[in-house]
Amino acid sequence: MAQADVAKWQIQRRRCPGSYQGGGEMSLPSHDPILPLDLALPCPAFIKYAAEIAHAASVPVSVHLDHCLKPSDADLALECAFDSIMVDGSMYDEEGNIKYVKSVVDRAKGKGITVEAELGRMEGGEDGLPTMDLESVLTDPDMATDFVKKTGIHFLAPSFGNVHGPYPAGGAEKHWRLDRLEKIHAALGDATPLVLHGTHPLSDKMVQVGMARGMVKVNQNRNIRNGYHKYIAENCNKVELTTLQVEAVEEYSKGVERLMVEVFDSAGKA
Ligand SMILES: [Zn+2]
Repeated sequence: MAQADVAKWQIQRRRCPGSYQGGGEMSLPSHDPILPLDLALPCPAFIKYAAEIAHAASVPVSVHLDHCLKPSDADLALECAFDSIMVDGSMYDEEGNIKYVKSVVDRAKGKGITVEAELGRMEGGEDGLPTMDLESVLTDPDMATDFVKKTGIHFLAPSFGNVHGPYPAGGAEKHWRLDRLEKIHAALGDATPLVLHGTHPLSDKMVQVGMARGMVKVNQNRNIRNGYHKYIAENCNKVELTTLQVEAVEEYSKGVERLMVEVFDSAGKA
């Protein structure tokens, strides 16, 4: 399976290696994102551990570092066993963003690591990502074409009204600029897969609306944690810790599987 195809079923299983269970039965390929805050852990050893478990799964699973805001994080990530890195240079001006992203792409080439980058600015804060004061800037289709050409990135995360963290009233249905997303996809074509950020909350229907407009990698975060949180809240201090951990991860897995089967149509695609 090609890297882009594997990435199509991106699922968040961060810090829950046990959640790889179950994917094999339904042949669900996936992509496992890690955020820079995890780099506070002893990075190379932790990522090596996560990658070994992911790569030993009976379905294709890749390990991804999301939103690499600091060049020092990118430097460290390139020394770890990641399969892909998202370089978030959206705080730079156009020239600075291109320079930062290209420097990572150039170094990642020899390591077999693919690179995703953001163009434009998605608002909102999520899991250690800063809430920016900057105005949300929508991705310009022509600039996106130029950006991909100059940087050599493999995936593009466009800004078209999507936000990190809760959406304002009206949700994605109101705030997504689908005309903009369609223009970006048309300008780049299938050669540059798009990545959907800002999926909290997002209805199943809107995920599919994005997928129909070029989104081949769909980030998931809080959506699929609900069952896990509910189980922990209801059972903490009531069952043994080992039982709590195992069964909470089982609940997490159910959330992952539901999305992959019912929304992404991933069953049997590994
Ligand atoms: Zn994101």
